[in-house]
Amino acid sequence: MLIFRQLFDPQSSTYTYLLGDGASRSAVLIDPVFEQVRRDAALIGELGLKLTATLETHVHADHVTGASLVKQRTGAKIMVAKAGGAVGADRYLVQDDVIAFGGRRLLVRATPGHTGGCLTYVLDDSSMAFTGDCLLIRGSGRTDFQQGDPTAMFRSVREQIFALPADCLLYPAHDYRGLTVTSVAEERRFNPRLGGDIAVGDFAGYMKNLRLAHPKLLDVAVPANLRCGQPEIAEGERFEVGADPVWAPLRYSFAGVWEIDPHGLEELQGPVQILDVREVEEFTGPLGHIEGAVLIPLGELAARVDELRRDRPIVAVCRAGSRSAQATAILHQAGFGKVANLNGGMLRWRTEGHPVEGGSA
Ligand code: FE
Repeated sequence: MLIFRQLFDPQSSTYTYLLGDGASRSAVLIDPVFEQVRRDAALIGELGLKLTATLETHVHADHVTGASLVKQRTGAKIMVAKAGGAVGADRYLVQDDVIAFGGRRLLVRATPGHTGGCLTYVLDDSSMAFTGDCLLIRGSGRTDFQQGDPTAMFRSVREQIFALPADCLLYPAHDYRGLTVTSVAEERRFNPRLGGDIAVGDFAGYMKNLRLAHPKLLDVAVPANLRCGQPEIAEGERFEVGADPVWAPLRYSFAGVWEIDPHGLEELQGPVQILDVREVEEFTGPLGHIEGAVLIPLGELAARVDELRRDRPIVAVCRAGSRSAQATAILHQAGFGKVANLNGGMLRWRTEGHPVEGGSA
Protein backbone atom coordinates (compact mmCIF):
# COMPACT_ATOMS: atom_id res chain seq x y z
CA MET A 1 0.00 0.00 0.00
CA LEU A 2 1.24 3.46 -0.89
CA ILE A 3 0.96 6.17 1.75
CA PHE A 4 0.42 9.54 0.11
CA ARG A 5 -0.12 13.00 1.61
CA GLN A 6 -0.31 16.37 -0.10
CA LEU A 7 0.69 19.16 2.30
CA PHE A 8 0.31 22.89 1.71
CA ASP A 9 2.26 25.95 2.77
CA PRO A 10 -0.13 28.91 2.58
CA GLN A 11 2.64 31.52 2.66
CA SER A 12 4.19 30.42 -0.64
CA SER A 13 1.33 28.25 -1.98
CA THR A 14 3.79 25.36 -2.10
CA TYR A 15 2.81 21.71 -2.06
CA THR A 16 4.98 19.26 -0.19
CA TYR A 17 4.41 15.57 -0.88
CA LEU A 18 4.93 12.67 1.48
CA LEU A 19 5.20 9.24 -0.13
CA GLY A 20 5.60 6.14 1.98
CA ASP A 21 5.78 2.40 1.45
CA GLY A 22 3.14 0.87 3.71
CA ALA A 23 4.97 -2.39 4.31
CA SER A 24 8.43 -1.10 5.21
CA ARG A 25 7.28 2.36 6.47
CA SER A 26 10.09 3.87 4.43
CA ALA A 27 9.21 7.31 3.05
CA VAL A 28 10.40 10.30 1.03
CA LEU A 29 9.36 13.94 1.18
CA ILE A 30 9.26 16.07 -1.97
CA ASP A 31 9.84 19.83 -1.66
CA PRO A 32 9.68 20.40 2.11
CA VAL A 33 9.23 24.04 3.18
CA PHE A 34 11.49 25.40 5.92
CA GLU A 35 8.68 26.90 8.02
CA GLN A 36 6.64 23.66 7.85
CA VAL A 37 9.30 21.21 8.97
CA ARG A 38 7.85 20.88 12.48
CA ARG A 39 4.44 20.04 11.00
CA ASP A 40 5.88 17.58 8.51
CA ALA A 41 8.00 15.86 11.16
CA ALA A 42 4.90 15.50 13.38
CA LEU A 43 2.96 13.82 10.57
CA ILE A 44 5.82 11.49 9.69
CA GLY A 45 6.02 10.50 13.37
CA GLU A 46 2.27 9.98 13.73
CA LEU A 47 2.16 7.79 10.62
CA GLY A 48 5.05 5.72 11.94
CA LEU A 49 7.20 6.43 8.89
CA LYS A 50 10.97 6.49 8.58
CA LEU A 51 12.07 9.23 6.21
CA THR A 52 14.93 8.14 3.98
CA ALA A 53 15.24 11.21 1.74
CA THR A 54 14.04 14.68 0.88
CA LEU A 55 13.80 15.42 -2.83
CA GLU A 56 13.80 18.83 -4.47
CA THR A 57 12.09 19.40 -7.78
CA HIS A 58 14.33 22.46 -8.30
CA VAL A 59 16.11 25.38 -6.63
CA HIS A 60 13.09 27.35 -5.45
CA ALA A 61 12.85 31.12 -5.59
CA ASP A 62 9.76 31.59 -3.45
CA HIS A 63 10.51 29.65 -0.26
CA VAL A 64 13.47 28.13 1.51
CA THR A 65 13.67 24.36 1.42
CA GLY A 66 13.32 22.43 4.67
CA ALA A 67 15.80 19.80 3.46
CA SER A 68 18.61 20.64 5.87
CA LEU A 69 16.30 21.01 8.88
CA VAL A 70 14.59 17.72 8.04
CA LYS A 71 17.97 16.05 7.78
CA GLN A 72 18.90 17.44 11.19
CA ARG A 73 15.73 15.98 12.72
CA THR A 74 15.42 12.68 10.88
CA GLY A 75 18.72 11.96 9.14
CA ALA A 76 16.96 11.91 5.76
CA LYS A 77 19.38 12.25 2.85
CA ILE A 78 19.18 15.42 0.79
CA MET A 79 18.70 14.74 -2.94
CA VAL A 80 18.75 17.48 -5.55
CA ALA A 81 19.31 17.82 -9.29
CA LYS A 82 22.92 17.72 -10.36
CA ALA A 83 22.13 20.47 -12.85
CA GLY A 84 20.70 22.73 -10.14
CA GLY A 85 24.04 23.85 -8.80
CA ALA A 86 23.26 23.45 -5.09
CA VAL A 87 25.95 22.35 -2.66
CA GLY A 88 25.59 20.30 0.51
CA ALA A 89 23.37 17.50 -0.81
CA ASP A 90 23.95 13.79 -0.22
CA ARG A 91 23.00 12.75 -3.73
CA TYR A 92 22.92 14.59 -7.06
CA LEU A 93 20.25 13.33 -9.41
CA VAL A 94 20.23 13.03 -13.19
CA GLN A 95 17.84 11.66 -15.84
CA ASP A 96 16.74 8.04 -15.23
CA ASP A 97 18.06 7.85 -11.68
CA VAL A 98 15.98 5.71 -9.36
CA ILE A 99 15.11 6.61 -5.76
CA ALA A 100 13.98 3.65 -3.72
CA PHE A 101 11.86 3.88 -0.56
CA GLY A 102 11.11 0.42 0.79
CA GLY A 103 9.58 -1.60 -2.03
CA ARG A 104 8.62 1.49 -4.07
CA ARG A 105 10.62 3.68 -6.43
CA LEU A 106 10.55 7.12 -7.95
CA LEU A 107 12.10 7.63 -11.38
CA VAL A 108 13.87 10.85 -12.21
CA ARG A 109 13.09 12.78 -15.38
CA ALA A 110 15.00 15.95 -16.23
CA THR A 111 12.45 18.64 -17.12
CA PRO A 112 14.40 21.91 -17.51
CA GLY A 113 12.72 25.12 -18.58
CA HIS A 114 11.56 26.84 -15.40
CA THR A 115 15.14 26.47 -14.14
CA GLY A 116 18.03 24.64 -15.74
CA GLY A 117 17.87 21.92 -13.08
CA CYS A 118 14.17 21.07 -12.78
CA LEU A 119 13.24 17.45 -12.17
CA THR A 120 9.98 15.53 -12.40
CA TYR A 121 9.61 12.47 -10.20
CA VAL A 122 7.50 9.61 -11.58
CA LEU A 123 6.16 6.82 -9.35
CA ASP A 124 7.23 3.28 -10.35
CA ASP A 125 3.82 2.35 -11.81
CA SER A 126 3.42 5.73 -13.61
CA SER A 127 0.22 6.37 -11.65
CA MET A 128 1.49 9.73 -10.39
CA ALA A 129 4.19 12.25 -11.19
CA PHE A 130 5.48 15.29 -9.34
CA THR A 131 6.17 18.00 -11.87
CA GLY A 132 7.59 20.79 -9.71
CA ASP A 133 7.27 24.15 -11.46
CA CYS A 134 7.50 22.72 -14.94
CA LEU A 135 3.88 21.79 -15.57
CA LEU A 136 1.32 23.44 -13.29
CA ILE A 137 -2.42 22.75 -13.35
CA ARG A 138 -3.61 24.45 -16.57
CA GLY A 139 -0.40 26.45 -16.47
CA SER A 140 3.36 26.27 -16.25
CA GLY A 141 6.18 27.70 -14.18
CA ARG A 142 7.67 31.00 -15.26
CA THR A 143 10.70 31.02 -17.53
CA ASP A 144 12.04 34.55 -17.03
CA PHE A 145 14.83 33.95 -14.50
CA GLN A 146 17.08 31.18 -13.05
CA GLN A 147 18.11 29.95 -16.54
CA GLY A 148 14.47 29.84 -17.54
CA ASP A 149 13.96 28.81 -21.14
CA PRO A 150 10.54 28.45 -22.79
CA THR A 151 11.87 26.27 -25.60
CA ALA A 152 13.40 23.83 -23.11
CA MET A 153 10.19 23.85 -21.06
CA PHE A 154 8.05 23.10 -24.10
CA ARG A 155 10.24 20.14 -24.92
CA SER A 156 10.28 18.92 -21.29
CA VAL A 157 6.50 18.98 -21.06
CA ARG A 158 5.87 17.39 -24.44
CA GLU A 159 8.62 14.75 -24.29
CA GLN A 160 8.83 13.90 -20.60
CA ILE A 161 5.44 14.68 -19.03
CA PHE A 162 2.87 14.36 -21.83
CA ALA A 163 4.60 11.09 -22.79
CA LEU A 164 3.40 9.53 -19.53
CA PRO A 165 0.20 7.43 -19.55
CA ALA A 166 -2.97 9.49 -20.08
CA ASP A 167 -4.36 8.62 -16.66
CA CYS A 168 -1.14 9.45 -14.78
CA LEU A 169 -2.01 11.99 -12.08
CA LEU A 170 0.14 15.10 -12.00
CA TYR A 171 0.98 16.94 -8.80
CA PRO A 172 2.60 20.38 -9.14
CA ALA A 173 4.83 22.26 -6.70
CA HIS A 174 2.36 25.13 -6.49
CA ASP A 175 -1.16 26.16 -7.11
CA TYR A 176 -2.42 29.64 -6.44
CA ARG A 177 -6.12 28.81 -6.80
CA GLY A 178 -6.24 25.85 -4.43
CA LEU A 179 -6.37 23.20 -7.18
CA THR A 180 -4.63 20.04 -6.09
CA VAL A 181 -4.18 17.56 -8.91
CA THR A 182 -4.56 17.07 -12.63
CA SER A 183 -3.79 14.34 -15.18
CA VAL A 184 -1.75 13.91 -18.32
CA ALA A 185 -4.89 13.56 -20.46
CA GLU A 186 -6.41 16.76 -19.10
CA GLU A 187 -3.30 18.85 -19.54
CA ARG A 188 -2.58 17.49 -23.01
CA ARG A 189 -6.01 18.70 -24.01
CA PHE A 190 -6.77 21.73 -21.86
CA ASN A 191 -3.50 23.35 -20.81
CA PRO A 192 -3.86 26.82 -22.35
CA ARG A 193 -0.11 27.28 -22.74
CA LEU A 194 1.14 23.83 -23.63
CA GLY A 195 -1.79 21.64 -24.64
CA GLY A 196 -3.64 20.94 -27.87
CA ASP A 197 -2.03 22.13 -31.09
CA ILE A 198 0.05 24.83 -29.47
CA ALA A 199 3.54 24.99 -31.00
CA VAL A 200 6.79 25.96 -29.39
CA GLY A 201 6.70 29.45 -30.94
CA ASP A 202 3.22 30.09 -29.51
CA PHE A 203 4.41 29.04 -26.08
CA ALA A 204 7.55 31.18 -26.19
CA GLY A 205 5.50 34.21 -27.24
CA TYR A 206 3.03 33.60 -24.43
CA MET A 207 5.81 33.29 -21.85
CA LYS A 208 7.67 36.39 -23.02
CA ASN A 209 4.60 38.48 -22.42
CA LEU A 210 3.64 37.24 -18.96
CA ARG A 211 5.17 40.28 -17.25
CA LEU A 212 5.24 38.74 -13.78
CA ALA A 213 6.41 40.59 -10.69
CA HIS A 214 9.81 39.78 -9.21
CA PRO A 215 9.23 37.10 -6.54
CA LYS A 216 9.45 38.61 -3.07
CA LEU A 217 11.82 36.02 -1.67
CA LEU A 218 14.01 35.48 -4.75
CA ASP A 219 17.08 37.22 -3.39
CA VAL A 220 17.09 35.32 -0.11
CA ALA A 221 15.49 32.03 -1.08
CA VAL A 222 17.74 31.16 -4.01
CA PRO A 223 21.06 31.61 -2.11
CA ALA A 224 19.67 29.61 0.84
CA ASN A 225 18.40 26.88 -1.46
CA LEU A 226 21.75 26.68 -3.21
CA ARG A 227 22.94 25.52 0.23
CA CYS A 228 20.01 23.05 0.47
CA GLY A 229 18.37 25.33 3.03
CA GLN A 230 21.28 25.35 5.48
CA PRO A 231 20.27 28.01 7.99
CA GLU A 232 23.69 29.64 7.97
CA ILE A 233 22.61 33.05 6.92
CA ALA A 234 24.24 35.99 5.25
CA GLU A 235 24.02 39.32 7.04
CA GLY A 236 20.59 40.79 7.55
CA GLU A 237 18.74 37.58 6.65
CA ARG A 238 16.97 35.27 9.02
CA PHE A 239 15.40 31.91 8.49
CA GLU A 240 14.37 30.23 11.67
CA VAL A 241 11.52 28.09 12.75
CA GLY A 242 10.77 29.20 16.32
CA ALA A 243 12.96 27.20 18.68
CA ASP A 244 11.34 24.15 20.25
CA PRO A 245 10.23 24.65 23.88
CA VAL A 246 12.73 23.37 26.43
CA TRP A 247 10.78 23.73 29.69
CA ALA A 248 9.39 20.20 29.37
CA PRO A 249 9.72 17.14 27.10
CA LEU A 250 7.03 18.23 24.66
CA ARG A 251 5.93 16.72 21.38
CA TYR A 252 4.35 18.72 18.56
CA SER A 253 1.29 17.05 17.03
CA PHE A 254 0.18 17.28 13.40
CA ALA A 255 -2.99 18.84 14.84
CA GLY A 256 -0.79 21.76 15.87
CA VAL A 257 -0.68 21.26 19.65
CA TRP A 258 2.30 20.92 21.96
CA GLU A 259 1.71 17.86 24.11
CA ILE A 260 3.21 16.30 27.19
CA ASP A 261 2.85 12.67 28.24
CA PRO A 262 1.73 11.81 31.79
CA HIS A 263 5.17 10.45 32.59
CA GLY A 264 6.81 13.67 31.35
CA LEU A 265 4.49 15.78 33.50
CA GLU A 266 5.11 13.79 36.65
CA GLU A 267 8.88 13.93 36.14
CA LEU A 268 8.82 17.65 35.48
CA GLN A 269 11.31 19.62 37.52
CA GLY A 270 10.41 23.17 38.44
CA PRO A 271 7.09 24.89 38.99
CA VAL A 272 4.21 24.34 36.63
CA GLN A 273 0.53 25.23 36.78
CA ILE A 274 -1.90 22.42 36.15
CA LEU A 275 -5.05 23.84 34.60
CA ASP A 276 -8.04 21.52 34.68
CA VAL A 277 -10.71 22.66 32.20
CA ARG A 278 -13.44 20.11 32.99
CA GLU A 279 -16.75 20.96 34.69
CA VAL A 280 -16.90 21.16 38.50
CA GLU A 281 -18.74 17.85 38.86
CA GLU A 282 -16.10 16.09 36.77
CA PHE A 283 -13.29 17.65 38.82
CA THR A 284 -14.82 16.30 42.01
CA GLY A 285 -16.15 13.14 40.29
CA PRO A 286 -14.86 9.56 40.04
CA LEU A 287 -11.80 10.33 37.86
CA GLY A 288 -10.47 12.72 40.49
CA HIS A 289 -7.91 15.36 39.57
CA ILE A 290 -4.18 16.04 39.68
CA GLU A 291 -2.92 17.46 42.96
CA GLY A 292 -2.68 21.24 42.91
CA ALA A 293 -4.75 21.61 39.73
CA VAL A 294 -6.59 24.88 39.21
CA LEU A 295 -10.15 24.39 37.95
CA ILE A 296 -11.44 26.72 35.24
CA PRO A 297 -14.05 25.06 33.00
CA LEU A 298 -13.25 25.50 29.29
CA GLY A 299 -16.32 27.67 28.67
CA GLU A 300 -15.10 30.20 31.25
CA LEU A 301 -11.42 30.13 30.39
CA ALA A 302 -11.24 33.05 27.95
CA ALA A 303 -12.84 35.35 30.54
CA ARG A 304 -10.76 34.08 33.46
CA VAL A 305 -7.21 33.83 32.07
CA ASP A 306 -6.03 36.52 34.48
CA GLU A 307 -6.43 34.04 37.35
CA LEU A 308 -3.43 32.17 35.93
CA ARG A 309 0.18 33.11 36.59
CA ARG A 310 2.09 34.32 33.58
CA ASP A 311 5.51 33.45 35.01
CA ARG A 312 4.94 29.71 35.04
CA PRO A 313 4.31 27.16 32.30
CA ILE A 314 0.80 25.73 32.12
CA VAL A 315 -0.26 22.16 31.43
CA ALA A 316 -3.93 21.90 30.49
CA VAL A 317 -5.89 18.81 31.50
CA CYS A 318 -9.37 17.46 30.82
CA ARG A 319 -10.99 14.02 30.65
CA ALA A 320 -9.45 12.71 27.42
CA GLY A 321 -7.28 15.53 26.12
CA SER A 322 -9.47 17.27 23.57
CA ARG A 323 -11.01 20.13 25.55
CA SER A 324 -7.60 20.82 27.04
CA ALA A 325 -6.13 21.03 23.53
CA GLN A 326 -8.68 23.76 22.85
CA ALA A 327 -7.63 25.38 26.13
CA THR A 328 -4.01 25.61 24.92
CA ALA A 329 -5.22 27.51 21.86
CA ILE A 330 -7.18 29.94 24.06
CA LEU A 331 -4.13 30.45 26.26
CA HIS A 332 -1.88 31.09 23.26
CA GLN A 333 -4.34 33.69 22.03
CA ALA A 334 -4.26 35.29 25.46
CA GLY A 335 -0.50 35.63 25.21
CA PHE A 336 0.68 32.67 27.29
CA GLY A 337 3.86 31.29 25.76
CA LYS A 338 4.67 28.10 27.69
CA VAL A 339 1.59 25.95 27.36
CA ALA A 340 1.12 22.23 26.78
CA ASN A 341 -1.70 19.75 26.62
CA LEU A 342 -1.70 16.61 28.77
CA ASN A 343 -2.00 13.86 26.16
CA GLY A 344 -4.86 11.48 26.90
CA GLY A 345 -6.16 13.58 29.82
CA MET A 346 -7.18 12.17 33.20
CA LEU A 347 -8.11 8.84 31.58
CA ARG A 348 -4.55 8.17 30.44
CA TRP A 349 -3.08 9.73 33.59
CA ARG A 350 -5.02 7.24 35.73
CA THR A 351 -4.48 4.26 33.41
CA GLU A 352 -0.75 4.78 33.64
CA GLY A 353 -0.93 4.81 37.42
CA HIS A 354 -0.09 8.43 38.25
CA PRO A 355 -1.30 9.88 41.59
CA VAL A 356 -4.82 11.29 41.76
CA GLU A 357 -6.51 13.45 44.34
CA GLY A 358 -10.14 12.54 45.10
CA GLY A 359 -12.03 10.24 42.77
CA SER A 360 -12.85 6.57 43.19
CA ALA A 361 -10.30 3.80 43.35
FE1 FE B 1 9.95 27.52 -8.71
